[in-house]
Amino acid sequence: MARSCIVMKFGGTSVGDAKAILRVCDVVRGRLPLHPIVVVSAMAKVTDQLLQMARAAGSGDRKTALTLARELRERHYNTAGELLGTALFTQFHGDLGAEFEELEELLRGISAVGELTPRTTDHVASFGEVLSSKLVTAAMSAHGIEASLVDSRDCIVTDNAFTRATPLFDDTNARLTSLVGPLVDQDRVPVMGGFIASTHKGITTTIGRGGSDFSAAIVGAGMGADKIEIWTDVDGMMTTDPNLCPDARRIKTISFDEAAELAYFGAKVLHPATVLPAIQKNIPVYILNSRNPTCEGTRIVARAPHCKNFFKAIAAKKRITIVDVAAPRMLLAHGFLKSIFEAFDRHRIAVDVVSTSEVSVSLTVDSNESIPALAADLERLADVKYEGRKAIVCLVGENLREIPGIAAHVFGELSDVKIRMISQGASEINLTFVIDEDQVPSVVQRLHKAFFAELDPEIFA
Ligand code: ASP
Ligand code: MG
Repeated sequence: MARSCIVMKFGGTSVGDAKAILRVCDVVRGRLPLHPIVVVSAMAKVTDQLLQMARAAGSGDRKTALTLARELRERHYNTAGELLGTALFTQFHGDLGAEFEELEELLRGISAVGELTPRTTDHVASFGEVLSSKLVTAAMSAHGIEASLVDSRDCIVTDNAFTRATPLFDDTNARLTSLVGPLVDQDRVPVMGGFIASTHKGITTTIGRGGSDFSAAIVGAGMGADKIEIWTDVDGMMTTDPNLCPDARRIKTISFDEAAELAYFGAKVLHPATVLPAIQKNIPVYILNSRNPTCEGTRIVARAPHCKNFFKAIAAKKRITIVDVAAPRMLLAHGFLKSIFEAFDRHRIAVDVVSTSEVSVSLTVDSNESIPALAADLERLADVKYEGRKAIVCLVGENLREIPGIAAHVFGELSDVKIRMISQGASEINLTFVIDEDQVPSVVQRLHKAFFAELDPEIFA
């Protein structure tokens, strides 16, 4: 049984250049007594570039693929040079170089065959995290931290659903315990690449784009960590978008369900589904800012503590179109909704909010150019109207489940605003409605003033 530990995950921008990696070293140094395990993404934009080379090679364009690989090599060499100084860099050079030889050989192979499979895609993509984890380990060692590289492909075992493989937790946990546990016991800092894993047979897989947060949660859950820290470049989750409303405040503690509702509205900080393995084990997840490391960030927990404010946050999503489908002749007709949803499916348009009456259905979708074609298709079933320049506003808070009459407060504040659709999700912790897009700033500001004028100091900063 390993001693207690924490997981610290650093995203692409947090390891994007030498300066950023030095900040990582400082932050990790400050946590050494807590026994950190470090999980890193590829350097910013590297995964995209690797996938671009893979596609170029797959289409037989060897020259482009290799040119891109050379640029990548340069960026990593330059960063390593800055971080390590000449003597150490000379030692480390060969190690990085060997990875690039392998990458280039792979790209040559792919272009010779002229075919890119999901399996080779993952192999190419894996270099981003392989390289960044080596770089960060070397940088830490050079700056006095006793770090040990752990190849995540030796620990995280998945099925063979390449490009979005699913972890096999039992095997993964056993390997984490035997490979990472002893390092923690020896006071060393294990450094692992996020996103990458392998099958039982040792074939490289990846666990889906943005997967490093998921890796951090897998490692944290497997190791029974005390907490997981997701280091990004924002202070945490906010009561609302500060660009919309300068009064926005940081949320200190939020429940997993609340964070999941907000994620949908592009609270880009983190996709909560990825940290579910940790939440299920009651391990708190913190969002922290590597540019402002003393800020205590946002803590995501399974069950939110009591909050005196009705809501945790107000989110808004613009560029929404309402599609109204009215079918008087089909009143209650069996299969009507099914055929409507099938039409959306055929046009690959995702529906956000739905509200129905006996004779009509209103649906919201992100505004996009396929809506006229969808409408033409739906015309065969019913009368169709659509209207763009709408926005969804969503208030989120666990109190919605418990306290009656909250909706009356909300709509009371907005008695002069034309509200088009209203819905309360099955999770019962969001109140969502649709308004004209140009009303978003004033509506959000008014609601924020009404519901966040006084803040529960336990929950908000
Ligand atoms: N590097 C991977 C990606 O860009 C994984 C991650 O950063 O989370 O998707
Ligand atoms: Mg990310």
